[in-house]
Amino acid sequence: MAILIVEDEKNMSNLLKLELTHSGYQCDQAFDGEDGLKKSLENDYELILLDLMLPRINGIELCRQLREKKQTPVIMLTARDEVMDKVNGLQVGADDYLAKPFAMEELLARINALLRRVNMQNKVNEYVYGQIKMIIDKRQAFYQEREVTLTTTEFDLLALLVKNGGKVVSRNDILDQVWGYDGDVSTNVVEVYIRYLRNKMKGIPIETVRGVGYRLG
Ligand code: CA
Repeated sequence: MAILIVEDEKNMSNLLKLELTHSGYQCDQAFDGEDGLKKSLENDYELILLDLMLPRINGIELCRQLREKKQTPVIMLTARDEVMDKVNGLQVGADDYLAKPFAMEELLARINALLRRVNMQNKVNEYVYGQIKMIIDKRQAFYQEREVTLTTTEFDLLALLVKNGGKVVSRNDILDQVWGYDGDVSTNVVEVYIRYLRNKMKGIPIETVRGVGYRLG
């Protein structure tokens, strides 16, 4: 988890990086909009600091394109006279903005506030997908309104699929997030547990995506 700084002024970018690193954040830098967009789509950053006026792709356009794919929190950095652009920035999905010049304490406070807000939103306790319902803190799973008793591993595996709401979850991601394996593990343990789930919840729409992973249909 890291913060991406998209800022074309090298001195400013390096200063931000220095301060953020000092505050305990890992940082990545992009010096134009094109590179910024590429990096923000390829990596899951905790947050993006996005300058408005950038070469190649400006901050507004970057944010608009990013939001078509991802919800990474964005704080837009604008010059004082770019009030209209500030409005545009919020319209294309930036979460907050800060006018330059700003005090570093102010930026850090905004970052902390935004991350806190996002973390609270992420603490969703109940997930529903089709006829599957999961209550995470009580570790209860329901299928077709009947409670099903699942083992810890079965529960975690199903919760991962439900949280992804129909998107394919790769076998490696499943191994990583449910079993905590990293790298390539050649084991069919995922397959075995998918079979357990299919047996316990007859008709559950877990689809096998050959060569990739699994998803809920
Ligand atoms: Ca700039």
